Amino acid sequence: MPTLQTIRDFDPTGKRVLLRVDFNVPQNEQGMITDDSRMTKALPTIKYLLEKGAKLIIMSHLGRPDGEVKENMRLTPIAKHLEELLGKPVKKLDETIGENVKQEVEKLQNGEMLMLENTRFYPGEEANDPEFIKQLADLGEVFVNDGFGVSHRAHASSTGLASVLPAYAGFLIEKEMNALQPLMANPKQPFTVILGGAKIKDKIGMIDQFIGKAQNILIGGGLANTFIGALDHEVGQSLCEKDKYDLAKELLGKATSPEQIILPTDVVTAKEISNTASIETVAINTVPTDTKILDIGPQTIEAFKKIIATSATILWNGPLGLTEFTPFQSGTRAVAQAVADAKKSTGTFSVLGGGDTAEVLKTLGFHEEDFGHISTGGGASLEFLSGKKLPGIEVLYR
Ligand code: ADP
Ligand code: MG
Repeated sequence: MPTLQTIRDFDPTGKRVLLRVDFNVPQNEQGMITDDSRMTKALPTIKYLLEKGAKLIIMSHLGRPDGEVKENMRLTPIAKHLEELLGKPVKKLDETIGENVKQEVEKLQNGEMLMLENTRFYPGEEANDPEFIKQLADLGEVFVNDGFGVSHRAHASSTGLASVLPAYAGFLIEKEMNALQPLMANPKQPFTVILGGAKIKDKIGMIDQFIGKAQNILIGGGLANTFIGALDHEVGQSLCEKDKYDLAKELLGKATSPEQIILPTDVVTAKEISNTASIETVAINTVPTDTKILDIGPQTIEAFKKIIATSATILWNGPLGLTEFTPFQSGTRAVAQAVADAKKSTGTFSVLGGGDTAEVLKTLGFHEEDFGHISTGGGASLEFLSGKKLPGIEVLYR
């Protein structure tokens, strides 16, 4: 069986190591980093390689410059912030490949690092172009991928380099795989999947996968509306994908038992979406035509809580209501509390996947310690959990 090769599997001392990270952090209009968690999660790998005496060459992309130099997407502020996080100098270069870069790399001593410019300033990056790969590979001797958030992309710096250099996973990718892989292989039962969020099309793959793996699939959020409508209930003005009714019915038909997929039995509705909206909780078969379904109701919360309390493993993706507004946060908050309580009382292993879910729970006052694992890759974790292979990680198995 091929196994994930990690940075423990080679001796970095004195080696020029090309390290791909995902430092595509959110910035405000002044270019200030508003959330550096993608950077802090890569620190264990960076510190380890420096301590072992590697000559570290850090690569990342930022934004979508589409193969051109965009001044506001340079990595200069990112390098500066990394310097503060590490308390060590990070030499930032204004190019990613070429003679100047090579000369700077030559000057690196053991345990020193530099950061290349935004890899996406070059069209060869996203094209996974062999010539661009070769120019990157010229700079180093070993390739380490720790950019979990870009590992679903077959790009030069995240995947291509593995075709020409010995390639290893960093600690973040190792941690993500250790958390996510068991969910796909042999999750500890009872395994409960909680799915919410906006669109069914993003979640079909996951529902399909987990019908064969999970004991319970709890559905809320905008996603639930499509199922509710497909069952011929009134959904009023709710977000709902009517063209996906057949698909929703097909998924319900695939369930291993009528109790496997649990839909809301009551919902919170409102006529307008605002922080001062007046809300009404109604049974699922009495939604007024002039309202929107914007959260799960108290009866549904209770049903979800019961299942969560007896689960050994939980995967959650997607908020259960329109959590951007306070009147529609109750379902997500109560379910998050139940997941956190299950961890505390019975050691339930919970994984948060997806883009918005972790962010929303943080805003609602929950902490990393409340959950077993918070995946850093939005698209990457969703693709993996839908059964797709991640090209940037596949190449690290030997
Ligand atoms: P993730 O990024 O974690 O996969 P999504 O992007 O699929 O999650 O979903 C997040 C969005 O879903 C949020 O903007 C939230 O407001 C929206 N949402 C959840 N429930 C509803 C609902 N009942 N009606 C409309 N939007 C909803
Ligand atoms: Mg999203």
